[in-house]
Amino acid sequence: MLVDERGYYGQFGGAFIPEMLFPNVEELRTSYLSVMESESFKKEFDLLLKTFVGRPTPLYFASRLSDKYNAKVYLKREDLCHTGAHKVNNTVGQIILAKHLGKNKIIAETGAGQHGVATATVCALMGMECIVYMGQVDIERQKPNVERMRILGATVVPAMSGSMTLKDATNEAMRHWISNPTDTHYIIGSVVGPHPYPDMVARFQSVISKEIRSQLIEEQGNPYPDYVIACVGGGSNAAGAYYHFVEEEHVNLIAVEAAGKGVDTGESAATTVLGKPGVLHGSKTLLMQTADGQVIEPYSISAGLDYPGIGPMHAHLFDIGRVRFLNATDDEAMNAGIALSRLEGIIPAIESAHAIAALDKLAFDSDDVVVINLSGRGDKDLDTYIRYGNY
Ligand SMILES: *Cc1c(COP(=O)(O)O)cnc(C)c1O
Repeated sequence: MLVDERGYYGQFGGAFIPEMLFPNVEELRTSYLSVMESESFKKEFDLLLKTFVGRPTPLYFASRLSDKYNAKVYLKREDLCHTGAHKVNNTVGQIILAKHLGKNKIIAETGAGQHGVATATVCALMGMECIVYMGQVDIERQKPNVERMRILGATVVPAMSGSMTLKDATNEAMRHWISNPTDTHYIIGSVVGPHPYPDMVARFQSVISKEIRSQLIEEQGNPYPDYVIACVGGGSNAAGAYYHFVEEEHVNLIAVEAAGKGVDTGESAATTVLGKPGVLHGSKTLLMQTADGQVIEPYSISAGLDYPGIGPMHAHLFDIGRVRFLNATDDEAMNAGIALSRLEGIIPAIESAHAIAALDKLAFDSDDVVVINLSGRGDKDLDTYIRYGNY
């Protein structure tokens, strides 16, 4: 969808990488489509999505939420995926791809640890060596996920440079990949990074909208909702939820960014409000930056939305007005998370609670069909819910 041969979505995308990384990225660029379209890849991917991840995930009609907002609200239950979120759809796809390319070692970087856990999970599944780079500061903040990765057999390597957070872990992972190009695949966790990663990850996650279409045919006799709502950190769950609807202009696509403490407070992650075009993580996109181009530290109560940019596909969809971007503050998201728990018996990830919070910002007709992508479950966020209180 959308991307051109050089990896551009309109003015965004491309591959801005050090020359020494070129052979690795080029190998991936020239092979990802043919591998993904091969029968043996598709067979293995479909089987593992079914038997390991637990797909198709249900499309759940949320009747009490529907009554509250006077619309037909459905939740796409990515929280029921193995490991508790959508991220595993992508890591399963990439590890099968790695195997097809003859790689037997995997590296990844992680901030909050969710992508690290999803990567360590599929490495255990395939018996591949797994190294996850993680900033030392994040290692201290995210103990349970660090231990999950270690239980799964991964080696967690601390990044000790700079602010000792995600961008430093990314630099270390890139350095490792440059030194080990033949046997190692680098699994990126969202629709970010140099081409072909954004397109590749979007294709792996597109199973979400593929299922929504067939589930809506069963529910209502046609595949089209009036709204699809998803939270956006880097944008992979949103890309998956939008993928098979982007060409259908009558389907309203809504993205919800993290406003943090408020878009004007200096503690926010609302990239489309605060960002400007620039290069982040190997692609041209929208990112939060100072006048002289230094990346501004983002802030959100939810670790998965605490990212200073959005993927190039989303930057383009924002640019052309195809996706409407809203944002929700920490407070709005926390209250939406508690409300969903009480109304439907589902404690959402705080990332996903941002998407729920958008219901208060939209005006629906009573026969509107609204699909919210519930990207993950709230177990990992229990400490944050407890600290926030108010329930
Ligand atoms: C990581 C994560 C996100 C944000 O990542 P995207 O690439 O924007 O989807 C959202 N929800 C959950 C549950 C996550 O773990």
